[in-house]
Amino acid sequence: MTDCIFCRIVAGEIPAKLILETENVVAFHDLNPVAPQHALVIPRRHIATLDDATDEDRELLGQLMLAGAEAARLLGCAENGYRTVMNCKESGGQSVYHIHLHVLGGRPFSWPPG
Ligand code: AMP
Repeated sequence: MTDCIFCRIVAGEIPAKLILETENVVAFHDLNPVAPQHALVIPRRHIATLDDATDEDRELLGQLMLAGAEAARLLGCAENGYRTVMNCKESGGQSVYHIHLHVLGGRPFSWPPG
């Protein structure tokens, strides 16, 4: 059994509130939302960090972004707008080492981020 939480969600071993699923990606609600709408979009295949992605992952990363946009539409925050974030490694604030796109909506976001 893998010790990657997100691989276990993909495998159905840990429950998640699903938003959408495709052949290659899964979107679900974040367990500890930091905005009224907070989704995570992950590839089914384990890639630890964005720094580990290669040119072979180009198509998959595009699918991840497009699934994020679709998740935002399904959550009803596409019209007003939303924030997408992918944290990378320690200084980027990454805590789960299986790449994931945060989709945050339902309130305004400031720039620069903290
Ligand atoms: P990051 O800090 O960018 O790695 O984001 C990891 C995110 O995963 C955090 O926002 C957590 O709240 C979220 N998270 C951790 N475990 C789960 C889980 N089992 N189901 C849903 N979201 C989770």
